[in-house]
Amino acid sequence: MRLAEANNAALLPENLRDDFPILAQTVHGDKPLVFLDSAASSQRPRQVIDAIVHCYEHDYANVHRGIHVLSERATDGYELARRKVKEFIGAEHAHEVIFTAGTTASINTVARSWGDANVGAGDEILLTPMEHHSNLVPWFQLAERTGAVVRHLPMTAEGLLEVDRLGEFLTDKTKLVAFTAVSNTLGTVNPVAEICRQAREAGVVTVVDAAQSAPHMATDVQALGCDFLAFSGHKLCGPSGVGVLYGREALLEATPPFLGGGSMINRVYDDRFTPADLPAKFEAGTPPIAPAIALGAAIDYLQAIGLERIHAHEQALVAQAWERLSAIEGIRLLGPSPVEHGADIRAGLVSFVLDRPHAHDIAQLLDNEGVAVRAGHHCTQPLHDRLGITASTRASFYLYNTPAEIDALADALAGVRERFK
Ligand code: PLP
Repeated sequence: MRLAEANNAALLPENLRDDFPILAQTVHGDKPLVFLDSAASSQRPRQVIDAIVHCYEHDYANVHRGIHVLSERATDGYELARRKVKEFIGAEHAHEVIFTAGTTASINTVARSWGDANVGAGDEILLTPMEHHSNLVPWFQLAERTGAVVRHLPMTAEGLLEVDRLGEFLTDKTKLVAFTAVSNTLGTVNPVAEICRQAREAGVVTVVDAAQSAPHMATDVQALGCDFLAFSGHKLCGPSGVGVLYGREALLEATPPFLGGGSMINRVYDDRFTPADLPAKFEAGTPPIAPAIALGAAIDYLQAIGLERIHAHEQALVAQAWERLSAIEGIRLLGPSPVEHGADIRAGLVSFVLDRPHAHDIAQLLDNEGVAVRAGHHCTQPLHDRLGITASTRASFYLYNTPAEIDALADALAGVRERFK
């Protein structure tokens, strides 16, 4: 990484490309790879790959258990990673950071632990129409178990949450509002702090799905005022298999653990147990040790560049993509227009449908040109239903993507449409 520029200067992705060995390849013969699928999973820099290799080559053993040097080193590395996450998200305490397998595991943990203990028949769970299945199904399951009712905050046709109507939906039965900070399909950036403020005033617990925000923009859980927040390592230049659940100390303290097993106990008797203190209480079994350590390296990497610069870079790519793709005949771009609403309304992805061909065929034809995008419902089937479509194609950007790659996408897409005239 060449950080020759001042930290507030525009990010130059060309300077980072050498850090990402996987991007320097051609596919389908001589087509340079244009990787525009980071919302599904990002690529990781050499620094993160090296951190994993270093852990396994030098410092790996199980954590918190053995009284030997390797275990001490692994434990130190694992707990250092926790402190890095704490700083990264502005948590008050490191023990508010729980390592999980990813966003999905984090949300399920809240649903099973906090949800089972606090939600009952007739209570209301408030969701939004733009949630990923990971932030829907665990709540549907909770509703099935408890007899609670699922409701949805309305959304405009453009894909903006109707936050001015939130008060109507925060009733005396509402226990929880779970919502995404950034839509993985529409790209909408939701007003997280405002939703959390209104929820808190109404005594309603908030669960923020930060899978698509934490990698791309600065997160400050105290400024946001959320109760729980979840994200995944693999979308944030880190490894797969590790994620984070942030929970406010008082809530985590008051919440019974969900997964039972080793490490999460204080004492086990013949027929009962007492749980360990935070954060171990929510980390049953052997945790993702090397992935967590490498997640710490990913956070170091992103913070050295600066989340504000990354976000600004992606906004510029979105503006470019919006302009270029809008010019393609028969295209429908999903989500709010950055031209109309300003750059801050969107994060770094653009989903679209063409009148022809179908989303999957588009992705296939783009792949033939070396352009990797995603097609399907992106785990947002109810949202696609609302939009009146079964599938869309999504191009998603990250710090390593260049303006030339946006042009490559637009040129290839225009070529696809031309073939299906
Ligand atoms: N929430 C959102 C908004 C997502 O985009 C994703 C992944 O695509 C998830 C949750 C689930 O993340 P994971 O599969 O890492 O658990």
